[in-house]
Amino acid sequence: MGDSATSSPPGFLRLPDMDEKLLDILVCPICKGPLLYRKAAGEFICKPCRLGYPIQDGIPVMLEEDARKLPPEEEIQ
Ligand SMILES: [Zn+2]
Repeated sequence: MGDSATSSPPGFLRLPDMDEKLLDILVCPICKGPLLYRKAAGEFICKPCRLGYPIQDGIPVMLEEDARKLPPEEEIQ
């Protein structure tokens, strides 16, 4: 008689860090390049295009017309 008590592992989902997840999938709609996430400013930056894409209600707005043009004096890092 085998008392095989198969205890299934608790299937709780560990949600990945949303910011990192977004960074993996988000690209610039213009140059298709990777974006920089600026937590403090709450926006995604495309270095080559010098555009800042706003995040509204936690959702990045990847539209060129809504993007902020970065002034030449603004340092991108
Ligand atoms: Zn770009």
